[in-house]
Amino acid sequence: MREIAIIGGGAAGMLASLYASGPGIRVHVFEKNDRLGRKLFITGKGRCNLTNDCSRDQFLASVMSNGKFLYSAFTGFSNQDVVKLFHSLGVRTKVERGNRVFPQSDHSSDVIRSLERRMRELQVRIHLKSTVTGLIVREGKVAGVTLENGAEIPADAVLVATGGLSYPVTGSTGDGFFFAENEGLKVTAPAPSLVPMETAESYMTDMQGLSLRNVELRLGQKGKVMFREFGEMLFTHFGISGPLVLTASAKVGKNLAKGPLQGEIDLKPALDAEQLDRRILRDFEENKNKQFKNILGGLLPSKLIAPALSLSSIAGDAPVHGIEKKDRLAFGRLLKAFPFTVTGLRGYDEAIITRGGVSVREINPRTMEAKKVSGLYFAGEVLDLDALTGGFNLQIAWSTAHAAGVHMSGGKKSDNESEENDHEF
Ligand SMILES: Cc1cc2nc3c(=O)[nH]c(=O)nc-3n(C[C@H](O)[C@H](O)[C@H](O)COP(=O)(O)OP(=O)(O)OC[C@H]3O[C@@H](n4cnc5c(N)ncnc54)[C@H](O)[C@@H]3O)c2cc1C
Repeated sequence: MREIAIIGGGAAGMLASLYASGPGIRVHVFEKNDRLGRKLFITGKGRCNLTNDCSRDQFLASVMSNGKFLYSAFTGFSNQDVVKLFHSLGVRTKVERGNRVFPQSDHSSDVIRSLERRMRELQVRIHLKSTVTGLIVREGKVAGVTLENGAEIPADAVLVATGGLSYPVTGSTGDGFFFAENEGLKVTAPAPSLVPMETAESYMTDMQGLSLRNVELRLGQKGKVMFREFGEMLFTHFGISGPLVLTASAKVGKNLAKGPLQGEIDLKPALDAEQLDRRILRDFEENKNKQFKNILGGLLPSKLIAPALSLSSIAGDAPVHGIEKKDRLAFGRLLKAFPFTVTGLRGYDEAIITRGGVSVREINPRTMEAKKVSGLYFAGEVLDLDALTGGFNLQIAWSTAHAAGVHMSGGKKSDNESEENDHEF
């Protein structure tokens, strides 16, 4: 009997167990929690955005680190394959805005239950409350795992699917990085990603609770704009969050290592400078005898008025009829480039994913096997792979887990796989 040990009963571990199963093979899943899929349960705000209905090129473009490494694994088990698998497991799906795929029921628990049911049908041995503390490796070949209670479990192949460091309450505490380093595998320094940002100015935190739609966020360093996108963001007690900010963290968060980022919000992206000035002038003409601060309600949400006034050259109690053109134009410029400074990212407790992880240079991209240790595989967020929001991170977990599962079971080829995908990385 061939024994396979999978460390971690999250998205990657559960899916890999299905493809590792087969005649003459006994698959064990060791999960430290008292149930499977704790992080999966909270994905997509409890609805589980399980993949994205996009092309392969769009998928690879949404992967921020080492997208090329995924070429073979994604071709072997694509987003369409994920949807097909879940349909076959009885989970109907729907596609929402941005091609995000969800279970039709809107319940992540259906995704978890369907995987668990299939695991039991395939007689996968599920060991809950079982923390793996180390790998057993002899002469460059994996020989098993050690559990917290001291038990040594022999195995012919081991998959490390322990996730990253984000949301550690779900069980992902970076154990896989430690296992990899112990075997001499390089681990790219991990960092939180898809994570809110901290800002320096007190007027930013004064706006906590304010949410802005259809604004342009720009972030840069030393005068060079590195991020410029439209969307939705919100202000918090520490700085900024929301979809635009999470995306920005994945794209330019690593630049914070070199110093703060200069930020600007275009509060009126639909108007160019001239159009905006005409709009302000119209407000001025209709409210000539009012104080400046009292006419801003038509232009700005109330929480933005005091910060905008504090950054403007116009006094709040100035009568509108006395405002000079140059000050009015400067106010327009402020609305097109509301300034702030990003000083850092929030921590792992608030990060959707972990950037960094086991270096993909250590891993065969077709099989997910470590090049240095025979029989040792890695899949999911433990690898140095991360993507934007939209279902791409779970797709990374499914594709890499499928590749590992298939090859751990003895190298069965899946339907979609061909030698032309066999890119060395
Ligand atoms: C709030 C939130 C929402 C998200 N929403 C989405 C979404 O909608 N769509 C999307 O694509 N991605 C989403 N993600 C990201 C996605 O959840 C992860 O990328 C994905 O779960 C990674 O899967 P994994 O199997 O590699 O790791 P995990 O799901 O983290 O699973 C790892 C498992 O290993 C176990 N484990 C760890 N160490 C040990 C050990 N030593 N012994 C035994 N067991 C161990 C852990 O307990 C855990 O169960 C979200 C993440 C968060 C935090």
